[in-house]
Amino acid sequence: MPSAAYGADRTGGPGGKLCSRGPIPILRRPHRKRGVMDRIGEVPDRYLSQEQRLMRETCRRYVDDVVRPFIEADREREWSFDAAARLPAQILAEADRAGLRGLGVPEEFGGVGLDPATQSQTFSIIATELARGDSGLADKLVQNWKISVLLRALAPRHLQEEWFSRYLADPQFLMAHCLTEPRGASDRWLPYNVPEAGMDTRAVHEDGYWKINGRKQFISNGYDASLFVVYANTDPSVGMLQGTSSFLVPRDTPGLEITRCNETVGARYMNNGEIVFEDCRVPDDHLLAHGDALGKAGVYFRPGKIIVAAKNLGVGIAAYEDTAAWVQQRVQGGRILIKHQAVALRVATMATKLEAVGALLRRAAIAVDGDTPDAARLCDMVKVFASQEILAVCQHAVELHGGYGAMLEVGVEKYFRDAAVYLHTDATVDVANFKITKALFPGTAGAYAGPG
Ligand SMILES: Cc1cc2nc3c(=O)[nH]c(=O)nc-3n(C[C@H](O)[C@H](O)[C@H](O)COP(=O)(O)OP(=O)(O)OC[C@H]3O[C@@H](n4cnc5c(N)ncnc54)[C@H](O)[C@@H]3O)c2cc1C
Repeated sequence: MPSAAYGADRTGGPGGKLCSRGPIPILRRPHRKRGVMDRIGEVPDRYLSQEQRLMRETCRRYVDDVVRPFIEADREREWSFDAAARLPAQILAEADRAGLRGLGVPEEFGGVGLDPATQSQTFSIIATELARGDSGLADKLVQNWKISVLLRALAPRHLQEEWFSRYLADPQFLMAHCLTEPRGASDRWLPYNVPEAGMDTRAVHEDGYWKINGRKQFISNGYDASLFVVYANTDPSVGMLQGTSSFLVPRDTPGLEITRCNETVGARYMNNGEIVFEDCRVPDDHLLAHGDALGKAGVYFRPGKIIVAAKNLGVGIAAYEDTAAWVQQRVQGGRILIKHQAVALRVATMATKLEAVGALLRRAAIAVDGDTPDAARLCDMVKVFASQEILAVCQHAVELHGGYGAMLEVGVEKYFRDAAVYLHTDATVDVANFKITKALFPGTAGAYAGPG
């Protein structure tokens, strides 16, 4: 039986406690015995290794005991325009204690050893769970995992030793991946591989240093990060697939300036930022990839898209669970909402969408782990499908909550805002669809940018 709360006044009036702003509903989800019923949309326990089960259980406890209580205690906090103070240090400290920061860091440097054969699947399971707590916080943590995978593949050993140990020693240490520039990102995702579409950020080699000049925008963790991976044009005479290099740039490097925290509609705890480089000099050994940096970033992009879709799914699961509680408690027309057919249809649609996203996500994660030929298109498919279907799930959640769906104090509108952000991360929906068509019809599909 669902617990009495959240609209528990059976006459249909708003239940809940009184606060300074008047009555607000208290959200209480029905008690769910752990391990008894599979969560809608998630990979059931029986398909996980013992290690994955344990990791998910630990993450679930962190989300239920730390993250959700923090989010629910003060819903105005994410709207603070003091970006540096928005997320209390304790939240990342607790993530560290739960062992959630070391994913992607090699075991020899103190990280969590992940089996490469199931790495993306593991990332996906944990990212979903984290985003069920908060999408922006999940962004903060998963950027670190993704960049750890990149550094593991590309950074020289002495820099891995230095930066992985500094990263693991400080729970507040974050990393950022800087590709997007004011002129746009879609040309890079397509890619539009001609010299005039190359990056505006330039790096030139001078006296044993690389000097970087340019501006990066819309960067996840960009406002807070201690370490940046930066992409710059090192050969303007060729296309970006041949003329882009990547660099490791510590935050305190002279010439690097964080110019703003972007105030986003959702995922606000992520602190998306803008960074300017003015004669910013890094030593030779900080060059990660020369010329072919976008190709080499494949080790980041594929697990990255799996993780993005997995976070997106976590937002949808949270929206569904709040709605499942609400429709079994809120009374209209003399009966709880779920007894009305129109409501039942919407709830079934929400659950089916979550299962469909979860199934495609699992299929894509297995393909990435197996490095199969269809992995790239499956990554794009799940990114597109998740972003559209989860937004639809969140819209149902908002509609089924009636007026409460629009209220900050209730938290359902937050899922809708968080879900909207996923339309644009890791390529837009249209650009990702172009890539799917190109993969399906390599001989006949268009280039979709420039001539061809
Ligand atoms: C919350 C958030 C986090 C992000 N995090 C990062 C990050 O960590 N690092 C990073 O580097 N970037 C990041 N980005 C940037 C993101 O990858 C880009 O915003 C996204 O790829 C779209 O690029 P754009 O904003 O330049 O839009 P544009 O490329 O200008 O696209 C505008 C519109 O034009 C369409 N369009 C573009 N080209 C074509 C074409 N050839 N044919 C038809 N239609 C086209 C697009 O589909 C879109 O509808 C983030 C963005 C957001 C919103």
